[in-house]
Amino acid sequence: MDIIQCKFCKKPFQSFNSKICPSCLEQIDRDFLVVRDYIYENKKADLDKVTEETGVHKAIVLHLLREGRLQIDNPEEGGTLLMCESCRKPITKGRLCEDCRNNVSSTMKQSLSGDGGGAGAAGKRPGSGSGRADDRGNNAKLRS
Ligand SMILES: [Zn+2]
Ligand SMILES: [Zn+2]
Repeated sequence: MDIIQCKFCKKPFQSFNSKICPSCLEQIDRDFLVVRDYIYENKKADLDKVTEETGVHKAIVLHLLREGRLQIDNPEEGGTLLMCESCRKPITKGRLCEDCRNNVSSTMKQSLSGDGGGAGAAGKRPGSGSGRADDRGNNAKLRS
């Protein structure tokens, strides 16, 4: 069991496997219903419109989209709702486009067999956007 910082409210909490604290999770569940209903009624809404009209924080809407719980189907009109985190192609759900997803699943198998598997997911933060650049300098790749 780890104490980690909640991805949304930045408060430390005891995490089993979530990056989000229980109170934010509750909030997200409530927001999910609001946004889902809104999108159901307003299929043409883009992300800005959705956040404006529902009052739900953009980070939460993005989170729901990434999780695949929500889907907004018109990337043309909405601009880029979500981008593939790897190749920056617009996508409607998840984190990666299909191409990259296929790539990742093959590279993941390689790296999984490689390192000694420490605290697992801790290193990888699914930031929304680039966020702050907290480069601690530990990221030096093994090849030079
Ligand atoms: Zn929180
Ligand atoms: Zn991609």
